[in-house]
Amino acid sequence: MKLEKKFTELKALLAEISDLNGASALLVWDQAMYMPSGGAPARARQMATLSRLAHQKFTDKKIGRLLDALRPYEESLPYDSDEAALIRVARRDYERAIRIPNEFVARFNAHVAETYQRWTEVRPANDFAAIRPNLERTLEFSRQLADFFPGYEHIADPLIDFSDYGMKATTLRSLFHELRQALVPLVEKITSQSPADDSCLRKSYPEAAQSEFGAEVVRQIGYDFQRGRIDKTHHPFMIALSIGDVRITTRLREDHLGELLFSNIHEAGHALYEQGVDPAYENTPLAGGASAGLHESQSRLWENVVGRSCGFWEYFYPRLQAHFPDQLGAVSLEEFYRAINKVEKSLIRTDADEVTYNLHVMLRFDLELQLLEGTLAVRDLPEAWRERFQADFGIAPPDDRDGVLQDVHWYSGAIGGAFQGYTLGNLLSALFYTQALQEHPEIPHEIRQGRFDTLRRWLTEKIYRHGRKYTAPELIRRVTGDDLTLRPYIEYLQAKYGELYSL
Ligand code: ZN
Repeated sequence: MKLEKKFTELKALLAEISDLNGASALLVWDQAMYMPSGGAPARARQMATLSRLAHQKFTDKKIGRLLDALRPYEESLPYDSDEAALIRVARRDYERAIRIPNEFVARFNAHVAETYQRWTEVRPANDFAAIRPNLERTLEFSRQLADFFPGYEHIADPLIDFSDYGMKATTLRSLFHELRQALVPLVEKITSQSPADDSCLRKSYPEAAQSEFGAEVVRQIGYDFQRGRIDKTHHPFMIALSIGDVRITTRLREDHLGELLFSNIHEAGHALYEQGVDPAYENTPLAGGASAGLHESQSRLWENVVGRSCGFWEYFYPRLQAHFPDQLGAVSLEEFYRAINKVEKSLIRTDADEVTYNLHVMLRFDLELQLLEGTLAVRDLPEAWRERFQADFGIAPPDDRDGVLQDVHWYSGAIGGAFQGYTLGNLLSALFYTQALQEHPEIPHEIRQGRFDTLRRWLTEKIYRHGRKYTAPELIRRVTGDDLTLRPYIEYLQAKYGELYSL
């Protein structure tokens, strides 16, 4: 009885922290959507205050004492019980939070803020040298951060743990190496053919009709507008204020239809995950996704595996044509399907297609590891980037702007742990979808009729409702009975693109 009271006490403290984080999320959303630029300095201060309060409350010794006292309670419960999971996940978060000294967080945040600001200036100016000292400091900070978690196997492991808990650099490195061996020749075979014609996507598509169709699609796959909303932004994102309020933002271009269509489905995939979490986890550390890779597996599954499949468009294409009769009336489903699956060697990761995308990610992942290991110096990074890009894509970026300066990640946080989640997400999207089809072979037939219930219910049952209860490796085992493997993803790509390009 006494322990149950302590558990209730812990839950109440954690709920306050979750409220503070929810309020921060609203400030972030507003900043991206509506805040006038004059609000920026105050907003930065408000967000810093809220996150400091949340951090102070969470690292309070009181929480530590409760977690200690609750160990026997946790051990008396089955591993699968929600109570045991809540204590387990809170303890993992707590132990991580207290290891990083406050003064380090303050110094690092100040450094990151300055670096990010400088990056926004040097990238357009193509001036890597101007930001090199910042990046060298970031690398030092990143190593120190890893060293707060001694006993690691690889120095990147603690950093990978922040986003993909339980994944290891050495495992990922060999998995990615194998993936690269399969991808480079596949990309070569596809791009040696004449490129797919995607001109049908590059006509004039008025904003209102695009937004209307985009909303129709995400509603149909199951995004709940009673518990979410869509707004327009420059960089699309999903943000959960609570399980009952999961918002997505989307990017729209009137001269390119693919932009809104697929960023909408991508962010809705993230949102389906968050909306699908067991409502009993509201306001606890169990709300949210299991890891960056798990989250990305859901956005990719809906965007690519489902949303760029032929069956999906068998249903939606006539509807899309009805919205845009002048632009698409004379374009066949086949032509449209080829256009949305065009593969090409391009310089920019975020513009990359399904097949080449992982090569962009793995390049960054490998360079991160080398920087952290000390086998690559920051001053040699631009050249290392060019060499690797040449090796994987057969072209070299003409400048650093579209090379080493292109992504915000290293200039807005630590070096290490920021990229692997994207490729893990791709691998997992095919792994989970393959498993869903084994259990429900009727899914592709239903998708051709615009029905997504069986798939979404399966994902909710197997993945979404658990929130953060299980780690990603635990979830993968529970869903598939095995560890993460490459095969379903490679087979998925080979089957789809083999047919598209008659390989
Ligand atoms: Zn995503």
